[in-house]
Amino acid sequence: MVVAPYDFIIIGGGTAGCVLANRLSADGCHRVLMLEAGPRDRSPWIHLPIGYGKTMFHKTLNWGFYTEPEPTMGDRRIYWPRGRTLGGSSSINGLIYVRGQREDYDHWAALGNDGWSWKDVLPYFIRSEHNTKGAGPAHGADGPLWCSDIGQRHELIEAIIAGAGELGVPRSDDFNTGDQEGVGYYQLFTRNGRRCSTAVAYLRPARTRPNLHVETDAQATGLILEGRRVVGVRYRRNGRMQEARAGAEVILAAGALQSPQLLMLSGIGPQEELARHGIPVAHALPGVGANLQDHLQIRLMYRVAKPITTNDELRSLWGKARIGLQWLLTRSGPLAVGINQGGLFTRVMPGPGTPDVQFHFATLSADMAGGAPHPWSGCTFSVCQLRPESRGSVTLRSADPFAAPVMRANYLATETDRLCTVEGIKFARRLAATGPLRDLLTEEVKPGAETEGDAALLAFARASGATIFHPSGTCRMGTDPLAVTDVRLRVHGVGGLRVVDCSIMPTLVSGNTSAPVVMIAEKASEMILSDARAGSTPISVAAQGLGTFSEAAREGSPV
Ligand SMILES: Cc1cc2nc3c(=O)[nH]c(=O)nc-3n(C[C@H](O)[C@H](O)[C@H](O)COP(=O)(O)OP(=O)(O)OC[C@H]3O[C@@H](n4cnc5c(N)ncnc54)[C@H](O)[C@@H]3O)c2cc1C
Repeated sequence: MVVAPYDFIIIGGGTAGCVLANRLSADGCHRVLMLEAGPRDRSPWIHLPIGYGKTMFHKTLNWGFYTEPEPTMGDRRIYWPRGRTLGGSSSINGLIYVRGQREDYDHWAALGNDGWSWKDVLPYFIRSEHNTKGAGPAHGADGPLWCSDIGQRHELIEAIIAGAGELGVPRSDDFNTGDQEGVGYYQLFTRNGRRCSTAVAYLRPARTRPNLHVETDAQATGLILEGRRVVGVRYRRNGRMQEARAGAEVILAAGALQSPQLLMLSGIGPQEELARHGIPVAHALPGVGANLQDHLQIRLMYRVAKPITTNDELRSLWGKARIGLQWLLTRSGPLAVGINQGGLFTRVMPGPGTPDVQFHFATLSADMAGGAPHPWSGCTFSVCQLRPESRGSVTLRSADPFAAPVMRANYLATETDRLCTVEGIKFARRLAATGPLRDLLTEEVKPGAETEGDAALLAFARASGATIFHPSGTCRMGTDPLAVTDVRLRVHGVGGLRVVDCSIMPTLVSGNTSAPVVMIAEKASEMILSDARAGSTPISVAAQGLGTFSEAAREGSPV
């Protein structure tokens, strides 16, 4: 019999993985291994909020995926960045803290996912946060994840807030109470002007625990099964194939693109897909890789009458020096707030209901998200439909674990999605025409005043729309035959295996996905530990001083 040196193995040291690593190792009783394909999060560009532009196309810290040519988007292949380092996408994301709407989670529960209503998930959001607003009915102040108000006010964002008021959208100081309607400043995952990824918030405090072992540059290539039970994982580290065994559970936290890929590589997935790549079926699970959902952002760009934009500050050497100094002295200014400061949630489709579009307002303009700022005073209104009906998929390119999976987003495939997207663009234009903005925004650069009528706006969306980086739902939880996990996130029909990341969302939440993933991992940790205590997953004996970081990862600064 092989002795399992670990109780839990977490695959993927990303947003969810770092939360799990902390919570599962906290009581000192369980031996935890976390494998992360990327390197440690040492790059200063990760930790400086404005570094977003630098990590967006980084060769090492970013997987840099592309979708297949999208027939609904003019056959364009759309760039899908994903974090590839400790903290995963929370180390490279736009830092915006949004939980979604109360109704998103009540909908999950209504679909049969008991324990996932807003009332059920709120305590996990609260537990995770150290909110600079302080503790309250909707917020926590004692958690590890810093969520900070943007202290500074920007003339442009103030004008947007005033303009939205003319359209009947109220000012909001908090988008995270479950009720989103409003316009205001986002809160950011920052602590004193530096990024607070889950690696910073959760992994750093746990790094000296003797029962937590983290291996970076360690890419899982498949699960080891004995019958229908997962007992370990194969991975490549420093060019060498290795195996690790788990006495209790393997937890897949490789994200919405690679968790389904790893399941399929291990023979767990749709039979036809496995057969196409000559992979023996360990357990047929037709829903693996299906149900892919994402938010499509449409970016409108404006010239601004005054040199008050981040473009202006970044253009000159003096401007750069000034904002650098501002950050060093006060931990504030453009370097501390990243890209998007202002947000707006409203309803643009007819009839009653909750907000169906979200805006990100940037005091900066560039040809693409994360691209170089324009050499003129510019700003961006990005709008996305919050609950798209279109569904895509993740499938295998080949049985090679180092090949990127095949991703198809299938944006704008339904009439509702097309209508809502066009209405969102029209709302942006109404906003730009309000009193407070009319004179400040001198020209609509994109789509441009000549783009008129719904058909032309839809054509603009198809020609220029891009991801707002929220692929989800590819291992969705549920109770029907296409569900991949149950409500405790255990993979249907396979023992010793859970999925805990963005892929378990049955439907995409109305907003950014990082905070929901942290909530999912917080809740999953509690379920995993409670199942372990109840003996429903065998747990081996107590920790025996495994050390924390593997030697290669130990070199240099702490995590
Ligand atoms: C550019 C960008 C901007 C975004 N902006 C925001 C924002 O402002 N606000 C917000 O809330 N959300 C934002 N998001 C989305 C949000 O960050 C993600 O939805 C969330 O972080 C996903 O968490 P996850 O745990 O599912 O996956 P990830 O955090 O991506 O973690 C997966 C981890 O698994 C690792 N991995 C993958 N395969 C393997 C393998 N085979 N072996 C070992 N390790 C593996 C990866 O390297 C990665 O570290 C953004 C995302 C991106 C990419």
